[in-house]
Amino acid sequence: MARVYNFSAGPAVLPEEVLREAAAEMLDYKGTGMSVMEMSHRSSAYQTIIDEAERDIRDLMNIPDNYKVLFLQGGAHQQFAMVPMNLMKNKVADYIITGQWAKKAWKEAQLFGTANAVASSEDATFSYIPDCSDLPISDDADYVYICENNTIYGTKFHQLPNTKGKPLVSDVSSCFLSEPVDVTKYGVIYGGVQKNIGPAGVVIVIIREDLITDDCLPGTPTMLKYKTHADNGSMYNTPPAYGIYICGKVFKWLKKQGGLEAMQAYNEKKAKILYNFLDSSTLFKGTVRKEDRSLMNVPFVTGSKELDARFVKEAETAGFVNLKGHRSVGGMRASIYNAMPIEGVEKLVAFMREFEEKNGK
Ligand SMILES: *Cc1c(COP(=O)(O)O)cnc(C)c1O
Repeated sequence: MARVYNFSAGPAVLPEEVLREAAAEMLDYKGTGMSVMEMSHRSSAYQTIIDEAERDIRDLMNIPDNYKVLFLQGGAHQQFAMVPMNLMKNKVADYIITGQWAKKAWKEAQLFGTANAVASSEDATFSYIPDCSDLPISDDADYVYICENNTIYGTKFHQLPNTKGKPLVSDVSSCFLSEPVDVTKYGVIYGGVQKNIGPAGVVIVIIREDLITDDCLPGTPTMLKYKTHADNGSMYNTPPAYGIYICGKVFKWLKKQGGLEAMQAYNEKKAKILYNFLDSSTLFKGTVRKEDRSLMNVPFVTGSKELDARFVKEAETAGFVNLKGHRSVGGMRASIYNAMPIEGVEKLVAFMREFEEKNGK
């Protein structure tokens, strides 16, 4: 069996230890004689799985008691609609446009009310995070929306925007659990788990209790109300049971690594190896303003489409897979999530150095 170094942006690499554990439990979960996939979500064995998962993410992120943790479906895309349907009481919201995901969320919100773009970095292909210290936040805005780590472009908010007292809604899909966060600074934190936590099919929503109301936009389906899921412990209907089970295992793995402080230190160390190389390379070049660089997604180019394509192909043959940049931007992108071991990044850089010697100026 040969495992590759998988630099995919998502679905993405998971801790090998977690995969082995899940494999060992596949046919008989803890003496139940069945797989978690075959188990009733109303069974006590499953209730323990989801309760522990919630407890562990609460511990990891230090989530205060006045926030609910919901395990939902529909991916991040469904949140693009659920957020306005549940939060747009005044039918006004302000969006900061730092990439394709923020833009899609902004467009979706326009179906439900006035969604203002109060800042954007589209003028420079989303290669930086705009100054958000004094934005024209609308007086009647129900919330301010950001995509905190821009998976496609490789930028990250290292400072949260000044929302002038409005609740902050943040899509953290690609930086979830990569470093400590102060949950109290947000109204809603959400993310699809397939980038940094688990298998596709689960989206986790962390939401302040006062934002969970019955008073959603008229016509909001029962399944799209946060209250429905909050009132039923994420089990109003059958939850994505197996996916939640794997997320739970990743939470325990993160605790074993020392929690989010330790993860941040590890992620910084990993990213530095790659960024330092890019900054000194005569062939490869990072595409993002230095102070806005993401620890998770690192886009880079050679300046030649032909060389980019050759690099991606030769890297794949050498066991470094999914390095092709997003179809909308081209070039390369290395996603180096929590579960990417440091050796993966060291070996990638060694491979890039060799490629540079053969093809560089
Ligand atoms: C991948 C991604 C999405 C889209 O996620 P889906 O689960 O496919 O809807 C949205 N936002 C960010 C930041 C992402 O990285």
